[in-house]
Amino acid sequence: MVRKLKIVNHPEGDRPFSEYGIGVSKAGSRASRVIRALLARKEFAKSRRQWLYDGPWPQVGREDLLRAHDAAFVDEFLSDAPERILVQAYELEDEAGNPRRFDPDKAERPLRDLVPRAMAQTEGTLQACNLALAAGFAYYLGGGMHHAGRAQCWGFCPVNDVVVAARRLQAEGAVRRVWIVDTDAHRSDGSAEILLGDPTILNLSIHMAAGWPLDGPLFDADGRLARCRYPTTVDIPIQEGGEEMYCEALSRGLALLETLSLQPPDLAVVVAGGDPWEQDGLESSKLLRLTQEQMLARDLLVYDFLSDRGIPQAWLMAGGYGAESWKIPYQFLTALA
Ligand SMILES: [Zn+2]
Repeated sequence: MVRKLKIVNHPEGDRPFSEYGIGVSKAGSRASRVIRALLARKEFAKSRRQWLYDGPWPQVGREDLLRAHDAAFVDEFLSDAPERILVQAYELEDEAGNPRRFDPDKAERPLRDLVPRAMAQTEGTLQACNLALAAGFAYYLGGGMHHAGRAQCWGFCPVNDVVVAARRLQAEGAVRRVWIVDTDAHRSDGSAEILLGDPTILNLSIHMAAGWPLDGPLFDADGRLARCRYPTTVDIPIQEGGEEMYCEALSRGLALLETLSLQPPDLAVVVAGGDPWEQDGLESSKLLRLTQEQMLARDLLVYDFLSDRGIPQAWLMAGGYGAESWKIPYQFLTALA
């Protein structure tokens, strides 16, 4: 039933980092690779217009970012000089202030063009949510910038598209309650910070129990709980070597999320990072090593849980690194088709 699939691709949000002088991955675009592989299958090739969405896009602006981020942060991000935030978000300097994985001489476009790239990703996430509300399911081949907090960002996440999109839909009256189900290898620390005390958007995060971003001290310099450790609604840390019980823990976590919800959500946003995969290319996610089969079981578990309850689901491809990383969204989407 390929016709029922809605796959969202926003080319502006998918520009390779090398264009900005950032040397992070030579794997090319995962989104294009997934689309190419899908089009190589007869059932997808003949119905491309039905499943592939590539515009138009809803406008996302300052007032949308303000629903998740501090005003001073938003104004700097949207100003003529967003570089400080971009250097922080993409971690382009080491502790001594020297460039890290960044060579302006190799850039084809200025660093500040990463702002429209991040805004485009937020548009993609928002549109995937719109399509999910209309059709039950949509998968955006991007998004998932869950490390961006209210006024600080890191982990390649300048703004939090996930919370921005959810709150925009709330402001429009399209939804009241939202779940975020985050299965990226790294803890969804930014979303946790922004959503602290918000009873309308509940957040599940299943992630590596150790390693980045949880490798720092428990408390910050002012003696407050470190920002990356702010609680989510359901927090599921997986210890190194705990892969065998991953799906069981996720299943119990989803049941707990439902128990904690006074009413069912109008929408679930799934941050489906591919980096828990054992063949993922990112060094910082090596403490969690799910097999390709376990990754598919993870995704189908979440999909079935939500569809059994009639909850519209917007999926975001989120993290995933290396030449083979496109296989994770591809195997999920073909399993659904
Ligand atoms: Zn990640």
